[in-house]
Amino acid sequence: MSPSLTTAATAAAVVGCPECGTRQELTPLGFGDTLYCVTCRSPLERRYGQSLTAALCCAGATLLLLIPANVDTFLMTEALGASRHSYLSSTAGAILDGGWPWLALAIFLLVVVFPILRFALLTLVLGHLYLDRHRPWLGRAFRWANRLETWAMPDVFLLALAVTYVRIKDVISVHLGDGAIYLMVAGVLALLTRAVLDKAAVWQAIAPDQAPTDPLTAVACNECDLLVDAALVDTPCPRCAAILRHRQVESIPITFALTAAALLLYIPANLYPIATLPIHYRPTSYTVLGGVIDLDDAGFWDLALLVFTASFVIPILKLVGLGWCALSVLTRSRRHLVAKTRVYRIVEEIGRWSMVDPFVIGCLAPVLNYNSLIHGGAGPAALPFTAVVILTVFSAKTFDPRLMWDAARSKS
Ligand SMILES: [Zn+2]
Ligand SMILES: [Zn+2]
Repeated sequence: MSPSLTTAATAAAVVGCPECGTRQELTPLGFGDTLYCVTCRSPLERRYGQSLTAALCCAGATLLLLIPANVDTFLMTEALGASRHSYLSSTAGAILDGGWPWLALAIFLLVVVFPILRFALLTLVLGHLYLDRHRPWLGRAFRWANRLETWAMPDVFLLALAVTYVRIKDVISVHLGDGAIYLMVAGVLALLTRAVLDKAAVWQAIAPDQAPTDPLTAVACNECDLLVDAALVDTPCPRCAAILRHRQVESIPITFALTAAALLLYIPANLYPIATLPIHYRPTSYTVLGGVIDLDDAGFWDLALLVFTASFVIPILKLVGLGWCALSVLTRSRRHLVAKTRVYRIVEEIGRWSMVDPFVIGCLAPVLNYNSLIHGGAGPAALPFTAVVILTVFSAKTFDPRLMWDAARSKS
């Protein structure tokens, strides 16, 4: 390993907690240790066998596997003496042909473009650090790789593939292609990359923290947690080039607007059918909850529970949780701040898994287009449901949890 990686990973530094804004020294940790924020108990840094070399290997391997996952046959079906097959990269095209351009665009970006972009950027940054080649654009590239972490969804698409397989295997002969196998391995490696990637160590390797002149008035970068002098606010961060702000601009009005829009769309998203499937050679529409009941009736209660949690519980939890946190800022509440911060962190982490139902449509639409009876595709709830998921992921991103702590501190 490059010497700069090992030394930078263990250097002490002062950071501003991204959840509550408290300044705290990052002391060197031993294996298995976690450093928690003294105020809000959020984990600031972990040491669980993370290694930049391992992260580079996992990210590079994921990137390599995503190529055959996109171009090899993904799913194959047979019926009425004919057959259909799909490719991951052409899934969005089949949805587009079905007359759902926005859903097609969402699937194309989240399943094809963003995973390749994220793992290409990660491989590039970690590869340069491994070879000790420091370039001025590394901070910007790593910032974008981190931003894409939520939006690159090969793991969610794999859950959708499992649901699709179970739902259509009794209706029609279905086989997984090599592309699906490559995606499964890539999905596991993507999760491994996440587990072994120590973001704080990467930031230190890109540019080590420097003590600000006055730590009490210093501002923490929202993207890389670098503490800088307050005079630098509204200028690009010296490490990651994000514009430095004291707190996220217009965080509360934007969070409220996005959450309210998601709440409104949640009604049609659950009231109308999300997709159509051929059952007993008859096109049958089902709602989000109806799909869960069908899975349970077919004996797959574990998969039904997963889909129920991802499609029904998580959106409600997100809407209620974000509303609770945003109201906390408006009322300057001092109560349950640690619990609210934890709820926010969970909401931000799990929100993306609700995309499983729209992705099921992406899996089945290209291989269920035989005739007017054996036919599957999106229903009227598909677009509002996808919009609910995307709006709530955005509103979790626009909400700045430090505002809850600021508001509580400012209460006289
Ligand atoms: Zn904190
Ligand atoms: Zn920064």
